[in-house]
Amino acid sequence: MKGKCPDCSAEIEIADDSIEGEIVVCPDCGLELEVKKNATGKIELRQITIEREDWGE
Ligand SMILES: [Zn+2]
Repeated sequence: MKGKCPDCSAEIEIADDSIEGEIVVCPDCGLELEVKKNATGKIELRQITIEREDWGE
């Protein structure tokens, strides 16, 4: 399974048994990304922001 870095668009290998909330680091730009599953069960990578923001819930 592959994900895409939202910052540099590098392809990142994600293990098939990755769980939501797992942290992966982009090998290209070093950005930390959180594994997320969307409504269809597809794995997505989401940038972890250090700045405070509204997380919803
Ligand atoms: Zn990247």
